[in-house]
Amino acid sequence: MSHRVENQPPPLSDYNLWRANPPLREAVEREGASWAQVSLDDYGARLGTARMQEDAALANRNPPVLQTHDRYGHRIDRVDFHPAWHALMAAGVGAGLHSSPWADPRPGAHVARAAAFMLHAEVENGTLCPLSMTYGSASSFAQAPDLSKQWLPAIFTREYDPTFGPVTGKRGALIGMGMTEKQGGSDVRANTTLASPAGDGTWRLDGHKWFTSAPMCDGFFVTAQTGGSTPGVSCFFMPRFLPDGTRNDIRIQRLKDKLGNKSNASSELEFDGTTAWLVGEEGRGIPTILQMGVFTRLDCALGSTGIMHQCVAQAVHHARHRRAFGRRLSEQPLMRNVLADIALEVESAVALSMRLARAYDRAQDAAEVELRRVMTATCKYWICRRGPPLAFEAMEALGGNGYVEEAPLARFYRELPVNSIWEGSGNIMCLDVLRAIGRSPAAAEAVLQVLQPARGSDPRFDAFCNRLLARFAARPAQEPLEAQARQLVGELALAVAAAILLQQDADIGDLFCRSRLDGTAASGMTFGNLPEHPAIDRLIERALPDIG
Ligand SMILES: Cc1cc2nc3c(=O)[nH]c(=O)nc-3n(C[C@H](O)[C@H](O)[C@H](O)COP(=O)(O)OP(=O)(O)OC[C@H]3O[C@@H](n4cnc5c(N)ncnc54)[C@H](O)[C@@H]3O)c2cc1C
Repeated sequence: MSHRVENQPPPLSDYNLWRANPPLREAVEREGASWAQVSLDDYGARLGTARMQEDAALANRNPPVLQTHDRYGHRIDRVDFHPAWHALMAAGVGAGLHSSPWADPRPGAHVARAAAFMLHAEVENGTLCPLSMTYGSASSFAQAPDLSKQWLPAIFTREYDPTFGPVTGKRGALIGMGMTEKQGGSDVRANTTLASPAGDGTWRLDGHKWFTSAPMCDGFFVTAQTGGSTPGVSCFFMPRFLPDGTRNDIRIQRLKDKLGNKSNASSELEFDGTTAWLVGEEGRGIPTILQMGVFTRLDCALGSTGIMHQCVAQAVHHARHRRAFGRRLSEQPLMRNVLADIALEVESAVALSMRLARAYDRAQDAAEVELRRVMTATCKYWICRRGPPLAFEAMEALGGNGYVEEAPLARFYRELPVNSIWEGSGNIMCLDVLRAIGRSPAAAEAVLQVLQPARGSDPRFDAFCNRLLARFAARPAQEPLEAQARQLVGELALAVAAAILLQQDADIGDLFCRSRLDGTAASGMTFGNLPEHPAIDRLIERALPDIG
């Protein structure tokens, strides 16, 4: 008897990721980037092709390879990538993920770019690392006018140019960042890399970086200790090639063998008299490099949200096609509860991260600057924390099929923790929120402005906000509250998400408040604990609409 394959779903391929994402489409309109719909539609169609999905799988099955020396023994410190990596990078640069809001500034530019970034995250994530760091780099370049003149034109093009050579000969450039050292990552003040003036306006750096992702970037913002009149950590720009066309002595010691993010090379670097240029004020390197870091933190929240959306779409797709015990999984009441609950989590992550992106578009508005200060760390902490358990639920919805490498869920599951760990791990984000709130009452005021329009629309929301605002009023900068920072930050994220959802869609907002703000024992601890609710069907439909 011939082998028949039955009861297996077709692949979720060749569909438009933008059209299949109503929560994101609504958010783009709500947050002021309706003008970007046509380009997002194009990018969503391109990303959803089987070809792109295949490239994502290939780039992760064929990780980059470090070539430290050439055949004659000279150091070359070059990383070679699979062609699929280059194809994905070309797509991301072509969509402007690395620089569009700076190259083409206009109202809503950060929101439009955030949406495109989130769509890319549904397909591949290693490529987002250099794209994100380059996006952040424009704000650090702003503090170095001479370097800006030289570098920004190459960064602002939409051409991906992986040539290993001086920036002067390149059609496009990408930028990385190196802060973390062996002896301390979160505590950048513990850097031991030393910078000494060379006497010609440049500096020589001696030391190492324990993590520097995307070492094939054309230049890096790095931190190092400086002595002189203002000792402390300073920020430097270190190009791969020097102005005379020779290779700068940046030694790639080895590549990291990581849990996920396999397509992207993360490396250990050593500096031995390596040339760099001071950026910003000497001794003020941490705030200078963090100008770049806040953008990559925003991207951690956006990237995790994109992955979470794709995980839910995969789960809904599978459940609609797979039958068990006489009917489709998507008709089984308990499976519907799980699918709706993870879809609700994505609705909240989209609402939070896209509202945050809008704050980046309003750099002239003091309240939005305060909001960005508090909510960047809040969103990074909360969304990145919700990602791994959500990916696990989505994976389990596929049963054994979810656990094998051929399904993208295994890759997404391995990928998700990194957005929380790098660029400020969970606790560091929570402490950052405490600092922001403790520094000035303006931060709490800015949050209040976001909550205010939803006040009075739901009793649970009102009670939750009252408790939260009372804690804010206590100005939790004092030491004893540090141990409770996670609780405060988690509640802040829930309150802001609830406020946006209640205004956007009364039913979904109501279910969010019932399931997330009510504090019953099981709700929030695991997914699939929703009460009976009219929003359940619609949440599943919105997670993966039938788009023909
Ligand atoms: C895939 C990947 C790519 C990376 N790419 C880069 C890169 O390109 N450039 C770069 O500079 N770095 C990079 N990093 C490094 C990353 O940013 C650091 O690992 C991270 O900042 C944490 O630093 P650490 O590893 O030294 O841990 P530690 O600083 O030792 O922290 C360990 C844990 O302790 C917690 N902790 C620290 N201080 C406190 C405190 N006061 N109270 C409570 N808890 C605390 C932290 O939250 C963390 O959970 C990358 C990391 C990964 C995994």
